[in-house]
Order: sequence, then structure tokens, then C-alpha cells
Amino acid sequence: MLQTRVIPPAEGAYQYPLLIKRLLMSGARYEKTREIVYRDQLRYSYPTLIERVARLANVLTAAGVKPGDTVAVMDWDSHRYLECMFAIPMIGAVIHTINVRLSPEQILYTMNHAEDRFVLVNSEFVGLYNAIAGHLTTVEKTLLLTDLPEKTADLPNLVGEYEQLLSAASPQYDFQDFDENSVATTFYTTGTTGNPKGVYFTHRQLVLHTMGVSTIMGAIDSVRLLGTNDVYMPITPMFHVHAWGLPYVATMLGLKQVYPGRYDPEFLVELWRKEKVTFSHCVPTILQMVLNSKAAQNTDFGGWKIVIGGSALNRALYEAAKAKGIQLTAAYGMSETGPLVSCAHLNDELMAGSEDERTTYRIKAGVPGPLVEAAIVDSEGNFLPADGETQGELVLRAPWLTEGYFNEPQKGAELWAGGWLHTGDVATLDTMGVIDIRDRIKDVIKTGGEWISSLDLEDLISRHAAVREVAVVGIADPQWGERPFALLVIREGHVIGAKELKEHLKPFVELGHLSKWAIPSQIALVTEIPKTSVGKLDKKKIRLDITEWQANNSTFLSTL
Ligand code: AMP
Repeated sequence: MLQTRVIPPAEGAYQYPLLIKRLLMSGARYEKTREIVYRDQLRYSYPTLIERVARLANVLTAAGVKPGDTVAVMDWDSHRYLECMFAIPMIGAVIHTINVRLSPEQILYTMNHAEDRFVLVNSEFVGLYNAIAGHLTTVEKTLLLTDLPEKTADLPNLVGEYEQLLSAASPQYDFQDFDENSVATTFYTTGTTGNPKGVYFTHRQLVLHTMGVSTIMGAIDSVRLLGTNDVYMPITPMFHVHAWGLPYVATMLGLKQVYPGRYDPEFLVELWRKEKVTFSHCVPTILQMVLNSKAAQNTDFGGWKIVIGGSALNRALYEAAKAKGIQLTAAYGMSETGPLVSCAHLNDELMAGSEDERTTYRIKAGVPGPLVEAAIVDSEGNFLPADGETQGELVLRAPWLTEGYFNEPQKGAELWAGGWLHTGDVATLDTMGVIDIRDRIKDVIKTGGEWISSLDLEDLISRHAAVREVAVVGIADPQWGERPFALLVIREGHVIGAKELKEHLKPFVELGHLSKWAIPSQIALVTEIPKTSVGKLDKKKIRLDITEWQANNSTFLSTL
């Protein structure tokens, strides 16, 4: 350790811990009258938010929640969720944002693993909750969240209904200071192999992430997505990495916030229009779903800025959204990273390029934000050159990355091998610092000694006018190791067969953009592509399905 000058604080100097409570007060200072809106059911201003957070803290404390306890939430995106994201950590407890789209067995696993003691359950999930309640090992009490007129439900050890409890509670709460390294939030990765893993974030990390996101999305001129006049509506569920941390950012800045409940594309468009939403974030498939909705067909979405992350943003979707007036910005992150790591940025050099070049950079994972360090390494952990060509595993350092997996020290140590967080993504880094995600390590297709990026192939296939959705996976091949297999959803009124797909890809091979081995050997035309609980292509399920189809000689398949 370097011998530096450290001056002890003056007697009485306040030691300022970075706590989530610090993010709550400034929004009301900037814009008192801005509203928090829940569907078409409720709206209130920032002073009321502050008051409701205090009321909830009183309700939880009276129910017996103590610092260090884990309090789980099962809800769709709502004002209640926002209040929980503040009140639970602010009393020193940990909020477990349950992924309600996992299977009941996985939800049960995560709740027992996280040692949840209290659970807030939306009336829609009462059946689901009761089906697993008998196997929950740590839960003591439940609290009902509901939009319905009945304010009770058949839940074991029910303390009461949220709104009724809040209105009876005091609007004052003296939020104490405590160690900024206390855990504030936890949730589980959607884990493609084995059980989901619990990641966790401290108050300090979430405060720094909030400041980081505000800077990346608010202060970089080529990005400029967020300012106090924006109207925010998440379309990434709040259980998916705390809606990417944006509710904390929006609250700190005093933005009008719109919470849409369960996602229904027609209703989302209606809410967007009515509340004049200007800023959202989502994974590509959710945007696709919104664009495919009936309501979107005659709508010009001019003025809507959307951050796309969680999966690669392909050119076809970028262009389709642009044609509808939407400004898309790609970003990169993962459950383990809080999540924001990087955002597409066009520096002066890129801005001077052609429209086509600019698009190329707008859809890449972008430039790591302030305080983020990114590098690429080989399988032994040696650093590789950032030359835009060499591919390696992306590794990261930032002050807001999970420091392990809850109660799984071995897996945590693997995540942090060599003191860098290993993303499991293959990437290049170029001289401008731009990250280009080539693929997930486990999704790269290894064929005939070559490595083919399933993401590249999906991007090129999606440019065919007939293709609405595509997923490419590698399937075992006795001769070549693996061969690419494409699953296609075709647009209404279009046709495409193996021959047309081959013709579409050939020019990219001739131009050297694609290896000839990358032309899929088989395609299947389907009506739907399997998705994960957060709407990403579920490549694990796709691989299983294909193996099954092949075993059954399914007529789905067409060989190229
Ligand atoms: P999750 O932890 O479920 O949020 O998934 C994180 C993973 O999503 C990353 O490791 C990447 O594989 C993928 N991902 C996220 N953002 C991007 C992006 N902009 N481009 C390509 N892949 C992405």
C-alpha cells in the first residue's frame, strides 16, 4: 500500500455514508409537482412519494422487519414497487425483487436461498404463492398488494393490505444512518445452467450506479437521453436488475414516472401517448412486441428515446424503430453488473462518418462509462490487444459490480478470477474504447475449426424483408463439430425458404462479412421463438427443442 497523506476528520465532522435515502429527497427539490403515475389508477406528487415511503417504513417496522432481514416483492411494475425500492433498504433491510416469470420451483428455490422473511404479494400471484408456501422455510409474514376492491386474500400470516396499512401509518420516519456497505438489494440471475444465482448490491454501489447512469445518460452529448423534463416509463420489469436502476435515477432527478403494471403492448402504447412518455428502456423483443401491436401501426413515436440492452440490438430493429420516430440507443450490462456498464456513443470522428457507419456504432454495446474499466482476456486471463479485431472474454471493474454470489463462494471466486469480473461474453475492444459484443461464450458456433458469432448471423438474417424474428444456435454435427441452425418467424404475407435464405446470405459471404461455414445448414419456420423470463431468446430451450425435432424427423426442418 502506498504511504499517502490521510487526514483524520475534524472532531464532529459528519461522515457521510452513501445510502439510498440520499436519492429520495432531491427529486422533490427540483420538481415538487411532478407525478408518479400508476396505469390509469393512481397519480401523486413527489412530496407524497416521500411521505408514502415513510409510511411503508412504519408498516414494515411494525410488522417486525429488522435491519438485515430480507423482504421479497412479487409485483408487476408499480408505484408500490418504487416505494419498496426505497423503504425496504432505507430501514436497513434487503429487498429481494422476485422474478415472477420464473417457474414456481425456481421462485421457491430463490426465496429459500435468499432467506426471505417477509413477502409482499400482488393478488395476481396469490395462487402461485400458496402453491409454494408450504415449502418456504424462512417466510414469517405476508402483505397483500392489490388493485382490486377486495382488500383481503387467502394468504398465510397476512399482516394486511398495502394501501390500508399505509393510510393508517404515520407519515414520519426517522431513517437512521448505517454502514454504506450494507446490502440493499438482491435478486437471482436467470441462470442458463443449474440453479439461479443470487447477486446483491450495497447502498454505496447503488448510489454510485445511480450517479454513473445519470452521467452516462444525461451528460454525454451524443447520448443525452435523460434530463429533468423527461417522462420516464420502464418497459424492463422492475424485477430485472431493478429496472436497470432507472427508478433510482428518475427519483433523484425528479422526473415524472409512469409505471405500467403488467406489460400489455396495446396498453403500453396508450399509456405512452396519454402520459407523453419520452424515455424508456427494454430488451429488443419487448420493443418488437410494442412495434407489432395494433396500436403502434398508425402511431408516430416521435420524441421517444429508448435504451436497448440485455441482448444485441440488430440493424433491422434499429431501422424499424427509427422509421417510427423512435431514437434507440444500445447499452450493455448484466445482472452481475448493476447493470449499466456501457452505452453507445459517437465521438466527433464517428459523427463525421456516413449514416451507415454511424448506425454501425449506434447498435454496438458502446463505450464503458466513467469509473468503468473494461478489458479483454484469453482463457488463461492474459490481456489481449484492444485493436478492434482480437476477440476475448470481456472482463470488468466498476464500483457497482456484485462482489459475489450469495452463499456461493466458489462461484463468486470464479466470477472474480484474477480480480476482474468475468462476463462470459466474447467481445472486441477498439482503439476508441468501443465494446463490440461478439457473442456469449457458450453461444458461439464452432464449425469446421471456425468460430461463428450467432449474433452476427442473426443480424444479417434479420435484414431479409420477410424475417420478423430470428434465433441462431449451433447444433452438433458429426463432421464439422457444430453447424448453425436458424429459427425464423416470418412476417405476415411473406414467404421464405431455405433457398431464399441462402441467396440472401451469399453476398455477405462474397464481401467477406461472413464465413461460408456460417450459412445455416438447416432452418425451421416457427410461429414463436422461445424466450426467457425476461424476454430474451432462450437458446438453451431452442437447442433442446431442435434435438427433439431432429429425433422425430420433424417436417419443421428444411435443409439448405
Ligand atoms: P442478464 O444478466 O440476464 O441481464 O444478461 C446479461 C447478458 O446479456 C450479457 O452477458 C450479454 O450476453 C447480453 N447483453 C446485454 N447487453 C447486450 C448488448 N448491448 N449486446 C449484446 N449482448 C448484450
